[in-house]
Amino acid sequence: MSSQDRSSPPTQEATAESTGSESALETARRQLDRVAAQLDIDDAVIERLSHPTAVHEVTIPLERDDGSLEVFTAYRAQHDSVRGPYKGGLRYHPDVTRDECVGLSMWMTWKCAVMNLPFGGAKGGIVVDPKSLSDDEKERLTRRFTQEIRDVIGPNTDIPAPDMGTDPQTMAWLMDAYSMQEGETIPGVVTGKPPVIGGSFGREEAPGRSVAIVTRETCEYYDYPLDETTVAVQGFGSVGANAARLLEAWGATVVAVSDVNGAVYDPDGIDVDLIPSHDEEPEAVTRFATDILDDDGGVSRISNAELLELDVDVLIPAAVGNVITADNADAIAADIVVEGANGPATFDADTILEDRGIRVIPDILANAGGVTVSYFEWLQDINRRQWSLGRVNDELEAEMVTAWTALKDEVERRDVSWRDAAYAVALDRVSDAHEMRGLWP
Ligand code: GLU
Repeated sequence: MSSQDRSSPPTQEATAESTGSESALETARRQLDRVAAQLDIDDAVIERLSHPTAVHEVTIPLERDDGSLEVFTAYRAQHDSVRGPYKGGLRYHPDVTRDECVGLSMWMTWKCAVMNLPFGGAKGGIVVDPKSLSDDEKERLTRRFTQEIRDVIGPNTDIPAPDMGTDPQTMAWLMDAYSMQEGETIPGVVTGKPPVIGGSFGREEAPGRSVAIVTRETCEYYDYPLDETTVAVQGFGSVGANAARLLEAWGATVVAVSDVNGAVYDPDGIDVDLIPSHDEEPEAVTRFATDILDDDGGVSRISNAELLELDVDVLIPAAVGNVITADNADAIAADIVVEGANGPATFDADTILEDRGIRVIPDILANAGGVTVSYFEWLQDINRRQWSLGRVNDELEAEMVTAWTALKDEVERRDVSWRDAAYAVALDRVSDAHEMRGLWP
């Protein structure tokens, strides 16, 4: 265990989320410094918030199905807990690094503060390609990881959740391993569980739902009636697929979707309900393009890079980070970008988009439905009482509209970008809490 030194060099090679020239940590720090310079916040608090409280690094020995042993590296970065327990996802991905976890944990602090949830920020991950593991191996890996971080997680200290490469089943194993060791069932140690063991209805769909809600609000605000609005969605995992389906149901025309293998584009609109999400069927977008759309003259197959540059009203990058960089930011032709993924634009790309007058609705608002329903799940676990799906969705709708409106007011009041507004709202809340609590010991 060690705390992150701000000046320390990246501890691992570049990640998928840093191939666009900077790591999630660099982006997160540059964003923080930029907004800190605009606001009247105590420098000491900003200095504190530039560092994570702790970064836990562990190794996990895994017995493979063939009897051999492999050791994996894993992290849990805990950024800040001044407003409540650390909160954030667990990622299983070959490109996970310590710096990525730290950067993503900082974003979780701001995300929870933007939503005014009583949580701080954390993020963790295992450096592993989950596709290379059997279900049994994934279970053993998850249970042993839980054992290695058992002392630093808990329903009142640090509450993991799903992220890239993890799902409700992963959370069920984590909850079971933790509970068995504690000697009692503790559902609140993790969110994003299956509803049958204390998970919340609507949690899986929630990040995509919040992307759709803020897209709808933003389109209305800038005078783009949804039924005349075209949308391109990059990434057809849970976030992209659910956002696309809801926006289509609310009247928007989804003209392009993609998965890791490529994209389909139909200027007349794609019936996104016909395409399973990446989680339901990994190659679905490509199969859909081959099986069904090749007969249709209006449809073309394009690359992910081309999708990002389509001339649409709204672009939703909902796959991995750093897909919009200084190299392609000038070619983005959408009027509004809604960030479904965490960190899809680098700091430099963001500046270019802002200079070009493109409105970017930041990740820390747009996909915050996930952690918001995680909060609802945590409340349900504490109270041992499950909410109906209708109640979850109604309360999520209300929380998202409240948060969106607070940012809109800040955008109008100070004439700043939506990201700067989100950071200002979050930083105000987090820094006020630090000042009220003070530094001790
Ligand atoms: N991994 C999700 C995120 O990045 C959810 C975190 C949570 O629910 O704690 O927001």
